[in-house]
Amino acid sequence: MVDKVFFEKLLRERDQYLHALIEELAAAQNHPRQSQIEDMAEAKEGDEVLHGREMAAREELAEVHKALGRLEEGSYGLCLECGEAISPERLEAVPYTSVCKQCATGQQN
Ligand SMILES: [Zn+2]
Repeated sequence: MVDKVFFEKLLRERDQYLHALIEELAAAQNHPRQSQIEDMAEAKEGDEVLHGREMAAREELAEVHKALGRLEEGSYGLCLECGEAISPERLEAVPYTSVCKQCATGQQN
């Protein structure tokens, strides 16, 4: 059995962190620093990097929310692929994961 209280705390902390990160990244893109014409290309590149990081954070946030849902319904910690229990070490490292290590490795064709 997984420690529901422990992982819920872990996931909620991650949730708050990601919300703050997304806000920060979004704000950085919406208020670009004043730049000279010759810096435009560089600034645009920077925006793309920020946008990429924002998208990654949003995807992770969605996974965190799904994990909290599984925690609620009692299926948290079970692999969605094979139904086996995910190792506590893996859950602590990646609390929002939905597959066990074997299935995750097998998916990387
Ligand atoms: Zn599995």
